[in-house]
Amino acid sequence: MKNEITVNGKRFGVSLTSSEIQKRVAEVAEQINSDFKGQEVVFIGILNGSFMFAADLLKSINLVSKISFIKVSSYQGTSSTGEVKQLIGISESLEGKNVIVIEDIVDTGRTIKMIANQLKQQNPANIKIATLMFKPTVYSEDVTIDYYGFKIPNDFIVGYGLDYDGYGRNLKDIYTIIK
Ligand code: 5GP
Ligand code: MG
Repeated sequence: MKNEITVNGKRFGVSLTSSEIQKRVAEVAEQINSDFKGQEVVFIGILNGSFMFAADLLKSINLVSKISFIKVSSYQGTSSTGEVKQLIGISESLEGKNVIVIEDIVDTGRTIKMIANQLKQQNPANIKIATLMFKPTVYSEDVTIDYYGFKIPNDFIVGYGLDYDGYGRNLKDIYTIIK
């Protein structure tokens, strides 16, 4: 395996191998299976970054479940409100459902907070957050991160769904930027 790669002109070194990721993702799935035993769950994957994590996680979920994907889209509001974000792609009702949001990475938490707030408006029975990567030293929101794959320092990573300027999502290992 190559330990160093270049993505879009920047150098990265491998930090989590595919087999480490697979092992951990299966453990997270087992936690969810046990917490929701006998219940039905709607998984909501956040595109684009979560597509690999969602696929691997769901393969180890043995609950009666549905999966759909949504996207956070940004558009420019008025100059006073600045950037506005909204969720696109929610088609089914979440009313009374157990919802688990699947994210690639939680950094400051602003994104997941916005997603959780908007999903709550649909009155689900509860909303849990499952993220592959979590940067606890940067996190500054009050939304509970219920499930996480790996806690990592505040360094930029790519691979396994995560991108650098759109590139690198296809890598099966996770790489950290070399400063
Ligand atoms: P937050 O709103 O929690 O600050 O940021 C979350 C979003 O920032 C993620 O969904 C992801 O798009 C991006 N992000 C944060 N840290 C990283 C990182 O280390 N690598 C990549 N590729 N994206 C990141
Ligand atoms: Mg993202």
